[in-house]
Amino acid sequence: MTAPHHHPAPDMLLDYATGALSEAESLLIAAHLTLCPACRIATAELDAVGGALLETLAKGDDGGESGAGFTALAARLDEASTHQPLPPQHNAAAAILPAPVRHYVGGDLAAARWQWRLPGLHEAKLPITGPFAAHLLRVAPGRAMPRHTHDSRELTLVLQGGFHDGFGHFQRGDVADANAQVDHRPVADLSLACVCLVVTDAPPRLTGWLGRLLNPLLRHS
Ligand SMILES: [Zn+2]
Repeated sequence: MTAPHHHPAPDMLLDYATGALSEAESLLIAAHLTLCPACRIATAELDAVGGALLETLAKGDDGGESGAGFTALAARLDEASTHQPLPPQHNAAAAILPAPVRHYVGGDLAAARWQWRLPGLHEAKLPITGPFAAHLLRVAPGRAMPRHTHDSRELTLVLQGGFHDGFGHFQRGDVADANAQVDHRPVADLSLACVCLVVTDAPPRLTGWLGRLLNPLLRHS
């Protein structure tokens, strides 16, 4: 398996490490981490730095460069930057869904409660409440998603196959981060159905005449 090329923004990893993300966003990051050694290391470092900062604060250190707290912090940072890479996570080798996602689905792909949305497009909602919703999306090989834009944010993690849009090519483990400014039309690769975990805080809004026709069909209830 090649390592992912598209990663979540660093501030998302920080928010993940400090527990500041919504449940759906945390799930997407946790799933990406099972597929991305680089982000696993970065997140472990953030954990270490966060722990060191808390320790420093707990000691009532004033943060001065000569303080013992600062020395301890510097040592922890040193340790964090040189620590050994984490071992790869061995899940059921044949599973398509990473373990954190399987937890919500109750199994692998076949266990998902797929619902037909459009020709070549199925969707399975995951049991998450909160400001962000999480869906699995399955797009038939070579299918284009309707061109759409967003009222706010959409995070996509590819779990099988791949897709391309105006921003690049995304494969297993890659994260695409679309915000309100993005109007895109992802097209699934020809080789295999594309399965993604999609986290949104508002339903996608289709653009163009076909979009206006299909919009009511895509509203997530
Ligand atoms: Zn990554």
